[in-house]
Amino acid sequence: MSTLDTFRHGVHPHGHKEATKGLPTRRMPFVPRYVLPLNQHIGAPAKAVVKAGDKVIRGQLIAEPVGFVSSAIHAPVTGTVVAVAPRRHPDGKLVPAIEIETDPYADQALPRREPLDWRAMSPDEFVRSVQQAGIVGLGGAAFPSHVKYSIPEGKKATRLVLNGSECEPYLTCDHRTMLEHPDKVLRGAEILGQHLGVTETVVGIEKNKPDAVDALRAAAATGKWGGNIDVHPVEVKYPQGAEKLLIQALFQLEVPTGQLPLDLEMVVNNVGTSAAIADWFDHGIPLVERVVTVSGPGVARPANLIVPLGTPVIDVFEQCGGLLPEAEGVVMGGPMMGQPLGDLNVPVMKGTSGLLAFTKSELDRPTEHACVRCGRCLDACPYFLNPSRLARLARAERWAEMTDWHVMDCMECGACTFTCPSGIPIVQLIRVGKSVARQQRSKGK
Ligand code: SF4
Ligand code: SF4
Repeated sequence: MSTLDTFRHGVHPHGHKEATKGLPTRRMPFVPRYVLPLNQHIGAPAKAVVKAGDKVIRGQLIAEPVGFVSSAIHAPVTGTVVAVAPRRHPDGKLVPAIEIETDPYADQALPRREPLDWRAMSPDEFVRSVQQAGIVGLGGAAFPSHVKYSIPEGKKATRLVLNGSECEPYLTCDHRTMLEHPDKVLRGAEILGQHLGVTETVVGIEKNKPDAVDALRAAAATGKWGGNIDVHPVEVKYPQGAEKLLIQALFQLEVPTGQLPLDLEMVVNNVGTSAAIADWFDHGIPLVERVVTVSGPGVARPANLIVPLGTPVIDVFEQCGGLLPEAEGVVMGGPMMGQPLGDLNVPVMKGTSGLLAFTKSELDRPTEHACVRCGRCLDACPYFLNPSRLARLARAERWAEMTDWHVMDCMECGACTFTCPSGIPIVQLIRVGKSVARQQRSKGK
């Protein structure tokens, strides 16, 4: 294992994890209504297999995948489907969704199922099974996990990397999962590791979570889980959780532009996703809930909650004592890459790692000044882009040149904006450039 335990460049925002990292995860009570947008993840939206008036039980399939890069959705609650109709998505758009009214008399127990015999499954059966479970990357990206577990002809995976970095400020949901369920995390890794045929599992955890490192090391030392498991602390730096950067930190290997970790014989999986894999194969529990960190200076009682998917954001805050009078804005996800919410009635999604309430002082954008050519944004960019130039090109609407300057390699981590002393909204400008480049590409320009 390498002694270098970080990637090059990046930034060091304040962690703000104290409010929740020591709080045991608790379960959110059921609320009267749930809304499940059909596009919960990257890829094609799922297709509803229920209609208004149907009775559903918790864990029942309510939308099936459409195509390969798509994932199933299950009822988070026992109740009645009241609508399959457009509802507000966290991104602000109206999208097709399934709305379920909770049965107030149901016990909401998940049906008990026998463990799935994953050892007897062919690789294709295993991949389809994960797709049917509705499991997506729970680190925030919500990429359908089964796609990663499908190894194309001519490729192989020799290493499974579990991502426990959790580099976004405020978020501690992965931290709590590792601390409270280290066995489940490693059991998921065992199942995945055997399916993929890897020889080694490496867990990368930022050094600010020493108790999680200890918990996983202790669980690994029991020898219950097949294979070779190494739990490796990495430097606390943003965006350490980006999978290519975690690989760089752990192995000093660079995944070239346009390639995937699999090109280096690796599959990277979030630790929460690994726990979800264990729940599915050992207990037949599909993805119907997730751990969400509720934090920020604008919430009364920060917490880590197990929240059924589809729960309205406003109800989650109510469960945490509500928003404080000084709260001025809410972000879904982390503060660096999360989605600001314009409506608190939108639902918790599969990719919702955090709900953060901020006051004016965190939300106020610094006054913008001219670029002083300090070069800090170049030193921050983990992909060695020239953010300052990209921002200038976007302002000048010189879209084609942005492509020449590799705008599509930008992962929109926001490290450049964070570090800029002139308050220039660099990543926001770059996002516009990427969107125009995508449109032009689709028009064949
Ligand atoms: S240019 Fe993109 S990848 Fe580079 S720091 Fe800015 S947002 Fe991150
Ligand atoms: S950090 Fe800001 S001021 Fe410094 S070079 Fe980049 S854009 Fe210019």
